[in-house]
Amino acid sequence: MESQHPETNAVTAGRPSPEAGAPLNVGISLNSTFTAGGPIGYGRFGNESWQALEGAITSLERGDSTLAFSSGMAAITAVFSLLPHGAPVVASDQGYSGTMALLKKYHEQGRLEVRFVDIANTKDVFEALIGAAFLWIESPTNPGLEIAEMSLIIGEAKKRNMGVAVDNTFATPLNQLPLQLGADISMNSVTKYLAGHSDVILGSLTVKDPALYNRLLEARTLLGAIPGPFEAWLALRGIRTFPLRFRAAEANAKILVEKLTADSKVTKVRYPGFGAIISFEVASDAEGAEKVCAASQLITNATSLGGVESTWERRRRWALESESVPENLIRLSVGCEHHEDIWGDISHALGEI
Ligand SMILES: *Cc1c(COP(=O)(O)O)cnc(C)c1O
Repeated sequence: MESQHPETNAVTAGRPSPEAGAPLNVGISLNSTFTAGGPIGYGRFGNESWQALEGAITSLERGDSTLAFSSGMAAITAVFSLLPHGAPVVASDQGYSGTMALLKKYHEQGRLEVRFVDIANTKDVFEALIGAAFLWIESPTNPGLEIAEMSLIIGEAKKRNMGVAVDNTFATPLNQLPLQLGADISMNSVTKYLAGHSDVILGSLTVKDPALYNRLLEARTLLGAIPGPFEAWLALRGIRTFPLRFRAAEANAKILVEKLTADSKVTKVRYPGFGAIISFEVASDAEGAEKVCAASQLITNATSLGGVESTWERRRRWALESESVPENLIRLSVGCEHHEDIWGDISHALGEI
């Protein structure tokens, strides 16, 4: 199965074996307990609907096993729960605001010793890795869209025998396979592209090492951050079309990047050359950027990303967002509408400034 293309894996993975009369899909398994003697036992330990979703993510990430969590943040928390008290951790100084806030809190509490680095500056990352125990990579970063030299920094961390996890939410397994680059864990906010319809919150961790899987399984079971069966089922339904949706949105993004770059109302466009997120700065201040976001009629002025529908927002409207993010930066999550309609809406909204 591994050698098949992700478009095929997305359609075929996580289905019951095709015996006569078998359903095509695993159902929504609403069970808190199971008759004694079986493999699961209790509803916090496992669930058939989770397992189907986990199988599909495993095949996309080219891993050996996946654990689904109640949210991306729950998955991230489970990873850091494995580290001993005070462990030195190297992490991007720019990244998803929730991860940043969690790591800052852990650092303040002395729970972890976090060394924040510019993840795109390989020399700085190498220096910070000396004596560290764990490397957390987000690339591209949210919302700066900076790119880490993944192979180099993972290779250096591995030489130093440390654990490495990658937040793969923005790149998605279609553009980046962290486990093949040597990382131990690939994390996804399934909420975003994998589920893709702005209707569930879910997270996942994919690994290759069975011992690491068992430690993370124990963390999920004991911390209790388990997904709901319905959410797991919805996410798997979304994954069936993930490659189609993502490639359509990415093709739209490439067209829109050119138009934004050529527009006199836009001063800076950040786009890493792949994916469907564009961050751009408008020729105005925070208020101007808010006006632009509020003026759209097709694009929804909302946080989050990775849905079939285009959304955008001024990131600094959130108190948690890093001060290094410019006040006039708008993060656009390009959806699957026709690119001409999206551009028509953007150019109308830019008319506000
Ligand atoms: C949204 C997001 C998260 C957090 O995921 P939730 O499902 O909202 O908990 C983590 N990392 C990145 C890059 C994200 O965009």
